Amino acid sequence: MKVIYCDVCKKNIENPVPTRNYFQMADIDLCEPCKDDLDLAMKNTLRGKSPFDYGWHDELTMKILHDSMQRGKIDLKPKR
Ligand SMILES: [Zn+2]
Repeated sequence: MKVIYCDVCKKNIENPVPTRNYFQMADIDLCEPCKDDLDLAMKNTLRGKSPFDYGWHDELTMKILHDSMQRGKIDLKPKR
């Protein structure tokens, strides 16, 4: 049985199925709850930001992920 560990909360993901219960962002593995939290954090951060640009979108995603890996959980209200 394949087991992957979430890089943010460090929990193991049993029988990981990509895009279903396991997500990969660059070289970071994410479990489903962390991916949900990341989406929420992005939504909070993107609110009021325009125009939309994939350049800073990806940059912001990675920044949130790296901060979150140090905290051990996703920060839902990251600083802008
Ligand atoms: Zn996780």
